[in-house]
Amino acid sequence: MISLGIDFGTSGARAVAIDAAGKTLAEAKHVFTGSKLATAPAQWETGLFCLLEQLPLELRQKIEAIAIDGTSSTVLLCDATGNPIVTPLLYNDDRGIAVMDELRAIAPPHHVAIGATSSLAKLLWWQKACRGAYLCAPTKIYFLHQADWLSFLLHGQLGVSDYHNALKLGYDVERLCYPDWLLKLPALPNLPQILAPGTPVGEVTAEVRSRLGLPQGCVVRAGTTDSIAAFLASGANSPGEAVTSLGSTLVLKLLSRTRVEDARSGVYSHRLGDLWLAGGASNTGGAVLRHFFTDAELETLSGEIDPNYESPLDYYPLLKAGDRFPINDPHLPPRLEPRPENPVEFLHGLLESMARIEARGYQLLQQLGATPLRCVYTAGGGAKNAIWSQIRARHLGVPVAQSAQAEAAYGTALLAQMSC
Ligand code: ADP
Repeated sequence: MISLGIDFGTSGARAVAIDAAGKTLAEAKHVFTGSKLATAPAQWETGLFCLLEQLPLELRQKIEAIAIDGTSSTVLLCDATGNPIVTPLLYNDDRGIAVMDELRAIAPPHHVAIGATSSLAKLLWWQKACRGAYLCAPTKIYFLHQADWLSFLLHGQLGVSDYHNALKLGYDVERLCYPDWLLKLPALPNLPQILAPGTPVGEVTAEVRSRLGLPQGCVVRAGTTDSIAAFLASGANSPGEAVTSLGSTLVLKLLSRTRVEDARSGVYSHRLGDLWLAGGASNTGGAVLRHFFTDAELETLSGEIDPNYESPLDYYPLLKAGDRFPINDPHLPPRLEPRPENPVEFLHGLLESMARIEARGYQLLQQLGATPLRCVYTAGGGAKNAIWSQIRARHLGVPVAQSAQAEAAYGTALLAQMSC
């Protein structure tokens, strides 16, 4: 059986095809070129088919299942034929700040959907901004996440999503339904039907099948978000195992038997089958490192750090004021002083301080009731830094290892493979 995972990340898209044993058979990559947001759906569509066409025909003919992940809270509205009727709002678009009062008024206190970039904030913003055109026919309008819309292009069924993408729309992942406070909003567009990630949605349409040479019976399964896909790719699968993503930001995810939520400290849990993926995201991370050092400098200077010695420099590395987790304070000031003249000492201070923030994050998750931490896999650009891993292991007090697979698309291929 060949399964295909497709990942739509922040800067490009990737596809990974695996066999039943999880061996990678083929990979494809597509970098988004256009910068115009208005044409984003067309770029995504081009990217999707370009990825599929890059795979050898012989392999395509044997693909039995496909799943797609997209960036969380990247959303769009489309008409009853699936044509986008608005410019999509991307994952980091915070214009929802204008509807925070409305959000707080409708959602329960500290709900995970209360945030300027949440899917629900974007929906409310559209309701407010596109009032005239939108209100006249809400029942003909569909609200979808990026992964839902891309999957629709393959299976042709409009209005289907998964409970990873739908968490920040307000979907109740415990009771598996939309809450009443959400459903009673006036002039709602069609909200997607929510399935467990990996559930078969439908077979690829005859048109797509013949265009790409896919076999009859090739099924598209409900997808996920890009960061959960990266978790799935890591190999972590039992409670107490965690994945830290050292990309532009610092993202923690701990597999837990219990669900933990604390919006005041930026903590929330995704459902993962019978378990929970507890986590949070900090604005510290690689973007701060990149501000001061090139990737080449990071590599050479790190090599000169003694990871067994704890740097006394105590920073809170941020590019601008504000963090979400483990301290949720939009005004938290960056702390990057004193700055030693020696760049090795400065980098050591930065890596040590980020490791302290990471350790504090995992402590917080455990204090809130998550399953105790047993080991941490690492994903993202910082994962290759062995010195940093040693510094982190000293603070975390558990083994730190690189993720088994670096590509989110691999995690989504595993999702496509799972039998439900
Ligand atoms: P994202 O997908 O979030 O944009 P990536 O996972 O591609 O990020 O990682 C890029 C980040 O990795 C950059 O911000 C960079 O500073 C950081 N990085 C690259 N090389 C190293 C290194 N050797 N040590 C630590 N961080 C690194």
